Amino acid sequence: MPRDLPRATIRTQVTLPLRFVDGYATTARVFSFEGLVDGREHLAFGLGDRAGVVRPDEPGGPAPLVRPHSECLTGDVFGSQRCDCGPQMREAVERIADAGGFLLYLRQEGRGIGLYAKLDAYALQDAGLDTYEANLMLGFAEDERDYTPAAQMLLALGVTRMALLSNNPDKAAQLERLGVSVTEQVPTGIHVSAANASYLATKARHGAHTLDVSRAGPRAQWPTGACGPHERSRAPSAGIAAIGEVGC
Ligand SMILES: [Zn+2]
Repeated sequence: MPRDLPRATIRTQVTLPLRFVDGYATTARVFSFEGLVDGREHLAFGLGDRAGVVRPDEPGGPAPLVRPHSECLTGDVFGSQRCDCGPQMREAVERIADAGGFLLYLRQEGRGIGLYAKLDAYALQDAGLDTYEANLMLGFAEDERDYTPAAQMLLALGVTRMALLSNNPDKAAQLERLGVSVTEQVPTGIHVSAANASYLATKARHGAHTLDVSRAGPRAQWPTGACGPHERSRAPSAGIAAIGEVGC
């Protein structure tokens, strides 16, 4: 662990039966924490063979599959079609339950700018700005997310190495720097709808210079319909295959 990374501990762990709107069900072990640097109420969901009790004094075992998911109230809860956060989270839960690992639910709405500012950014996008320009216009960085709490949570869970379910090389680099080794980067599916196609294309264009697409390999094909009745997954188009990270 880097010397300047404060240690977090598990505060509470409970079992939570999950059922999604499309009927998919699984069981999670949900963890809260003490000592996270930003004081926010981030959660970890242990899934598959990680859905059991964690004893902090025991080593974490083989590298789990981990998805850091940034909170998106509009997409995760209300099924907003302006982004693909809901289907991304739904996909991640099932894939992690199959492989064994953790979904980190990070309370960094709107790429870290907050819910109200995200809606302000949507308003600017409706006036013609793209998602990055809108954040800059509001006085924020393009992406304000900091994965320090994510690293603290993983280390509290005994995870020092993981397979990272993400298309975003910045997540991998930040977590490596923070002392969690990334053994493999596993690409996520792409979830396109009529309302988010332009948003995804912007991300693909913008992200192209930060993503080494050749590292990503063939994209996992997420079965059509697995993301719920009104949000079908489709195979990625050529333009969108270059996307750096989808999400708010
Ligand atoms: Zn979203």
